[in-house]
Formats: sequence, structure tokens, C-alpha cells
Amino acid sequence: MDASDVADDLDHVLYTKEQVAARLAEVATEIDRDYQGREVLLVGVLNGAIMVMADLSRAMKSHCTMDWMAISSYGSGTKSSGVVRILKDLTTDISGRDVLIVEDIVDTGLTLSYLVQNLRSRGPVSIEVMTMFRKPDAATTAVDVRYIGFDIPNEFVVGYGLDYAGQYRNLTDVGALSAHVYS
Ligand code: 5GP
Repeated sequence: MDASDVADDLDHVLYTKEQVAARLAEVATEIDRDYQGREVLLVGVLNGAIMVMADLSRAMKSHCTMDWMAISSYGSGTKSSGVVRILKDLTTDISGRDVLIVEDIVDTGLTLSYLVQNLRSRGPVSIEVMTMFRKPDAATTAVDVRYIGFDIPNEFVVGYGLDYAGQYRNLTDVGALSAHVYS
């Protein structure tokens, strides 16, 4: 579905699928260049990162391997607490590997900060982060995000893997949800 299919639910569109694809191609080029001669292991964070992972990996010109983690973050209201539970762990041994975590969105950065710490303890050669979207609050967390698709305002967005109550992940554009949907 695209933004016109759910026009009543969106306050405004932030990025069209064409804009997302164009930016992702630029990021993929950067990653290809930075990992030249090394095979990067992309670690996708389920469920939100499925679209980014699928498109980023296919926009890359070099070989990569992929693995997935599912985590749940306990939080009050809309903010996460940084207390994280691993629901599905990696199947790959990452010791000696170049790991790139692929995220849909970084908000406070608390979830990501836990994840980086957890994966770092497993002895990878390097660990970096790519996120499609980053919110201003993320800047206050001491987590280094190497590749950023777009910095976005502090509003609740859906589409391109990002959900509200499980829906809108299959929305190809990215938009801010209208208040009437969640109030
Ligand atoms: P953090 O620990 O960085 O605050 O939380 C990040 C997680 O919160 C994301 O993986 C995502 O699940 C959720 N999240 C944060 N902001 C948004 C948003 O604008 N839209 C959606 N759909 N999820 C969000």
C-alpha cells in the first residue's frame, strides 16, 4: 500500500518510497566503500528492520551475510526504558566478524545501546550501526550510529517496516500518523 491508500490515517508524508530508495542507494555505496575487501555481517533487528534489510542488502554491490535478532524493550508509554529481553538470538557466531546492525529507527537509543553492548561482548572485529531513521532524542545517548538514512522530527511515524499496533509496516511511503488513529 502507498500513502494514498491510507491518506485519512496520515497527518503528512515524510518520505516517498522513491526518496527512501534514493537515500538507501547512497548509504549502500558508503557501506560498500567502507567494507571493501571484507565481508560484512548485517544483523537486522526484527520486525521493523525487514524492509531496510531487504532493500539495503540488495542495493549493495559487495557480498554480505545476514542474521536476525528479535528483542523486546520494556517501556512506559511510548518511550523505551533500555531494559531489553532477547526473544530471538543470532544463529551466527560473530567473533572475528565485521558486524553492521541494521535498524529501522533509533529514538532514545536505549534499545540500541543495549544491543551494541551485548554484541560487543561476543568478540566481533568491528561493530557499527546503520539506521534508516533517527530522532533528535537519539543524539543524547552515547551510541554511535555510523550510517543514517534520515534525521526526522520527534513525531510518531509509520511505514517502511515501522508499525502502529502491528499495521502499516507494508506502507511503502513513510508518514506521521494522525492523532485520531491512536487517540
Ligand atoms: P529506543 O530504544 O531507541 O527509544 O526505541 C526504538 C524503538 O522504538 C524502535 O525500534 C521502534 O520499535 C520504536 N519506535 C520509536 N519511534 C518510533 C516511531 O516513530 N514509529 C514507530 N512505528 N516505532 C517507533
